[in-house]
Amino acid sequence: MRKKVIAGNWKMNNDLSGAVELISGIKGNYEPSENVKAIICPPFISLETAAELLKGTDISLGAQNMSEEDGGAFTGEISHSMLKSVGCEYVILGHSERRTIYNESDELINKKIHKALETGLKPIFCIGESLEQRESGVTNDVVSEQVKKGLDGVSEEALENVIIAYEPIWAIGTGKTASPQQAQDVHETIRNLIGELYSDSAASKIIIQYGGSVKPDNALELLSQKDIDGALVGGACLKAESFAAIINAGK
Ligand code: PEP
Repeated sequence: MRKKVIAGNWKMNNDLSGAVELISGIKGNYEPSENVKAIICPPFISLETAAELLKGTDISLGAQNMSEEDGGAFTGEISHSMLKSVGCEYVILGHSERRTIYNESDELINKKIHKALETGLKPIFCIGESLEQRESGVTNDVVSEQVKKGLDGVSEEALENVIIAYEPIWAIGTGKTASPQQAQDVHETIRNLIGELYSDSAASKIIIQYGGSVKPDNALELLSQKDIDGALVGGACLKAESFAAIINAGK
């Protein structure tokens, strides 16, 4: 049985004191369960403090991005070893905001995924179509291409440490959620593709999260779909009660 994995992507929100407040609120409101894995992904500057505050809980820590390089003259970048040194276990890669605002290509995302896996970080690998692509009926083609290019060269063994997050761009931060059936259909396509690229066993094991305006009032229905194994949450993870309610919905 796959666990539900609920991750909160804080994006560029909360300074250090806001981070401390939000984490203590989450700790006070969520109910630990062996069926659910919770992850928070605060901005880089709060990671070390977050790791301290999460000690003794079963909530894990992730970053929102990472360089494909090991280190050196890359102004403004953060490396895998820096993330690991402050207690990160996961890293979000290929978020649509990185793809569209910062022009990250499938090739770059593939390099970052390899670097994360080689260095012991678990990528939360984001994919998803634009509204225009959905309306022209190419959602499955777009998402399949992103999966193939992002995972190019990743072995079946390494794939066990990858989480895929399907996030339709038109549903991110817009209040528009994919219907549970729309999301389930794409999740099934992705799982079948993993079966073709790897094996039935890999397809049955891979965690595929849904992201796009997940909130406490739609989480349960989304998480009840056969191929939806969790959520990547943006806006609703910035309030402790709502993020905790989504984690609790995963039980
Ligand atoms: C996201 O950015 O990953 C996301 C899903 O955002 P929101 O929940 O706000 O749509």
